[in-house]
Amino acid sequence: MSAPSTASSASGTMMRAVRLSEHGRDPVLARVPVPPVGRGDVRVAMRACGICGSDLHIIEGSTVPAHLPITLGHEASGVVEAVGGDVAHIAVGTRVAVNPMLSCGACRQCRTGRANLCPRVRVIGLQRDGAHADLVVVPATNVIPLPDSVDFALGAIVADAIATPWRAIARARVQPGDVAVVYGLGGLGLHAAMLLRQVLGVRVIGVDAGDAALERAASYGIDEVVDARAGRPATEIHALTDGGADVSFEFVGALGVVEQAVRSLAYGGRCVVVGVGPDRLGLSLRQETLVARGQSIIGSHGYVSDDIRELLDLLDSGRVAVHDTVSHRFPLTSYAEGLAALRDRTSGAVRVVIENDG
Ligand SMILES: [Zn+2]
Ligand SMILES: [Zn+2]
Repeated sequence: MSAPSTASSASGTMMRAVRLSEHGRDPVLARVPVPPVGRGDVRVAMRACGICGSDLHIIEGSTVPAHLPITLGHEASGVVEAVGGDVAHIAVGTRVAVNPMLSCGACRQCRTGRANLCPRVRVIGLQRDGAHADLVVVPATNVIPLPDSVDFALGAIVADAIATPWRAIARARVQPGDVAVVYGLGGLGLHAAMLLRQVLGVRVIGVDAGDAALERAASYGIDEVVDARAGRPATEIHALTDGGADVSFEFVGALGVVEQAVRSLAYGGRCVVVGVGPDRLGLSLRQETLVARGQSIIGSHGYVSDDIRELLDLLDSGRVAVHDTVSHRFPLTSYAEGLAALRDRTSGAVRVVIENDG
């Protein structure tokens, strides 16, 4: 293996990286050593990396990373800058999206196409250094070539904020003619609603408790919304749907929302839970009711590389148009401004993407 060349954005043996050193204190741009490339790895010169809601949880400390300090960032795309000696299928210079979930490849889940459920999964930016940096190293099996028509910012958010709802939709086994309800119209929920409308052509009702989210819904093709602050949204869903929705999605992760999502369902309905929260489910639903109605409550976690591939094909073919959700772009040197935009509920931020110079 020849010595890998160095990206122009990193100099010599050092590079820039957004480092979190302690919880409750915002990360800062620092200089760290360029990570070495293992035999099965690729090193990617980062071009775009989204700041995700889960990064806020890591900064606050409600999600605890494997070590501190750590480089944040798990929603990434870039250009392959170096490849390990055992890597034959991907060349230096390839534009790629990064699947941030590094699975073991050997367990029952990995062997059956469910690498998202690998008990030994490690996520970049959480269990090892992430992609808000000049360079990131991942196994070569974790990069997916980007079609020329997909820019780096979109490629970055596909590999997390769009792939997560795509997997959840697959889990819901949505059928033509179904009515879908999406609880939480933040980045993930908005993408879920757009995919349900654009790819599956089903009717979508959005539920949220924020003015900005409810107001922007129509401009993303969601014509029916329910304001959760008005009371029990499930009651309103039943009034709008003549018997309830076929599928409901919970992207909120707050107390009582799963209950409303389940209560929104028709007989035979499926509720897919994606939102992450520490509260007990505490359903007041009778067990016999769930059985009599033949309903399902399904958890959905992450995605696999094939989900990212499918989405890139859909974007390339023009069947999906979601680029409008990248609402804010900042250079790596302005990471703090990106963080502020994501936190500011009046900023209108859907997805905030940090872009590195080429
Ligand atoms: Zn994320
Ligand atoms: Zn595994």
